[in-house]
Amino acid sequence: MHCDDPTCQKVCPFGVIGKESSNAVHIDDTFCFGGAKCRDVCPWGIPQRQAGVGIYLKIAPKLAGGDAM
Ligand code: SF4
Repeated sequence: MHCDDPTCQKVCPFGVIGKESSNAVHIDDTFCFGGAKCRDVCPWGIPQRQAGVGIYLKIAPKLAGGDAM
């Protein structure tokens, strides 16, 4: 929903949720660690977990699969 003051952005401990110049809210899937706090606080439940993406693929592939997009 690209909230003006997105709760998801406030709770991300990794700082990977940002606002683009168009005001779109974007989760950087390259660095998302899959904490899923954004999913828990979003009033509409929009961020969802996906398997096989994110930084775990590079640093700990055995742990890959907990991303939130
Ligand atoms: S993910 Fe949820 S809280 Fe974040 S901008 Fe979209 S609607 Fe707002």
